[in-house]
Amino acid sequence: MSDGRALARAYLEQQRLLGTDAVMVPAPGDSNVPLSAAPGASPGRTPDPTAAVSPTPGASPGRTPDPTGAVSPTPGASPGTTKLDAGLSFDPPAQDLFSSDPVQRATTLAAIADLVAACTKCRLCEGRTNTVPGEGAEHARLVVVGEGPGKTEDETGRPFVGKAGELLTKILSAIGLAREQVFICNIVKCRPPENRTPQYDEIAHCVPYLFRQIELIGPSVILAMGNTAAQTLLNTKQSLGALRNKVHRFRGVPVIVTYHPAALLRNPNWKKPTWDDVRIAHRLLDG
Ligand code: SF4
Repeated sequence: MSDGRALARAYLEQQRLLGTDAVMVPAPGDSNVPLSAAPGASPGRTPDPTAAVSPTPGASPGRTPDPTGAVSPTPGASPGTTKLDAGLSFDPPAQDLFSSDPVQRATTLAAIADLVAACTKCRLCEGRTNTVPGEGAEHARLVVVGEGPGKTEDETGRPFVGKAGELLTKILSAIGLAREQVFICNIVKCRPPENRTPQYDEIAHCVPYLFRQIELIGPSVILAMGNTAAQTLLNTKQSLGALRNKVHRFRGVPVIVTYHPAALLRNPNWKKPTWDDVRIAHRLLDG
């Protein structure tokens, strides 16, 4: 970037995406829109979800379909302005060098998968066919976290397969990421009976595996898909609706909250907001 205006725009864009301030930033190429602070914005203010992604005045109405079935701005047209506030921050203790806990002492994802395969810490071990520890790149920049394995995942030992998995693969592809470039996993590593929501004690027993996986991978962004993933990673009871449109942090790593792909299959109206969330995660990766 050669001029001060471009540098200022890049800086403000980064601050906004990191959730350190609430600012309105014109999109690249939107030279008619001045840089300005969001009117009345202040850190910690609850944003109006309906105003979080709004069209830039004068922007082209032309839009093209996105792979999830929602719509996205036409290439070259202004995607509009985005306003995000800083969200929650959860910072559970990291690895203790002197710990005798085998999870804390595991130094590779494969070692964690081995521990998961032998785990009987909660009742979910009783009905499983396979454990589903997660899969993907050892040092992925993006970690995707869902709730727990379903029927197909239990049968195959792989996360996010079946129809919801196919939709996730399309969503990732739309932001230029192959599944293999991402680490995909769940809050619990064994299938809950009848796909019920994991219970509190099951999550408490299982989540150290996930926390250690994230610690070893060291991602740039975490995408929490669904209530269980979001509430566990952020240690909150807040609803998914309240958690969207903010940049949260898990041990300092930005966390974006969105709908679970299985929920999108039940309610296609959530595809558009999910696409908005995933684009924010993508822009954080690029930041
Ligand atoms: S769900 Fe997690 S804690 Fe429970 S048995 Fe499976 S691996 Fe162990």
